[in-house]
Amino acid sequence: MFEFLKVRARPTGDPSHRRGKVAVTFAARLTFDDVSRRYGDTVALDHVSLDVAPGEIVCLLGPSGCGKTTLLRLAAGVERPSSGRVLLDNKEVAGPDIFVPPEKRGVGLMFQDFALFPHLSIVDNVAYGLKSLTRSEAKAEAFASLERVGLAHYASEYPHILSGGEQQRVALARAIAPRPSVLLMDEPFSGLDPRLRERMREETLVILHETSATCIVVTHDPEEAMRMGDRVALMRKGKLLQVGKALDLYRAPKNIFAARTFSDLNELPARVIGGSAATVLGMFPANGIAEGGAAIVCVRQRGVRFLPAGEGVPARVLDSRFLGDIALVELAVQGLDALILARVRESDVPQLGSEIGVKVDQGAVLVFPADNGPSQAVP
Ligand code: ADP
Repeated sequence: MFEFLKVRARPTGDPSHRRGKVAVTFAARLTFDDVSRRYGDTVALDHVSLDVAPGEIVCLLGPSGCGKTTLLRLAAGVERPSSGRVLLDNKEVAGPDIFVPPEKRGVGLMFQDFALFPHLSIVDNVAYGLKSLTRSEAKAEAFASLERVGLAHYASEYPHILSGGEQQRVALARAIAPRPSVLLMDEPFSGLDPRLRERMREETLVILHETSATCIVVTHDPEEAMRMGDRVALMRKGKLLQVGKALDLYRAPKNIFAARTFSDLNELPARVIGGSAATVLGMFPANGIAEGGAAIVCVRQRGVRFLPAGEGVPARVLDSRFLGDIALVELAVQGLDALILARVRESDVPQLGSEIGVKVDQGAVLVFPADNGPSQAVP
């Protein structure tokens, strides 16, 4: 399956390996310093600061329209910031007085709707962007790049013979052929079916680590972001909400939006009484919300536990859906209008219609102010 992973690794630090006029990849630091971008009344980016270390892979995650592509376009130099600065290796490439054009930045782009030219051979497709090289140098570079993604044997064929996954690999070969020091990928796997997508994700990660380019991958899929990113940068409405390692974002989301992004939640309205947010399912630390204030208690669906009838909070099992490794169980809990969802092993699903008790793992609870404002998460 990973046959192309056997190809030779390309050295990254030794200039003696330079071929043609293309330099060996040296990963660059990419910094956005208080960057904003407006289109008329639309604020596409709102004071975004983000520092991507050399060789790091950061996944930019957020819903459609939150500004992800705009941030990539600013880094690539196909768009200018309205204010703020973009820096490569601490050198300003975009700012109030400076604008370095795309071709001088060493930044590569791979878009979701990458198109291969049908009338060009596969190696020529990959060589297409290598304008600074002679034709034979460009072909040699393109061939080396195809070798890296395991498709050198298709070099002289034409794109129509390729499967979806192979086309994707050719697009990747084309993106890495100029050996960019920063590679920007915009929803690179969105056109693929889920299985192929997973495989391409893994294969691409290996290639990215091998090329050692600094990389930003845009996605709206939290699982993909967590899987691929050394860090995940969560965006919403033009702002960077939270940046960190996947586990930190999962454990301690800064607000309810971040919490919802990384976990399936039950959300219970609550009031803070005596320092605790009080719900039918229990009292939870109020997390700094003022006495009498409105809170939302978020209970991860995997944190709902089943007990025998007579223990915990009384509940009735209404429905159960098999989701693969786990089941999603729907419960009517005494004293609650909304239904509660629990994710459990299929073997732990109680009989439909039965009366049981439920309790909640304290560690699976996050408490936020009801106005959705920023807050420290619990735990
Ligand atoms: P995402 O990539 O997260 O889907 P975008 O960066 O494409 O979001 O867009 C962010 C916002 O900026 C959206 O509201 C979008 O409509 C707006 N926008 C982006 N590019 C332009 C443009 N060239 N002209 C006007 N509005 C734009």
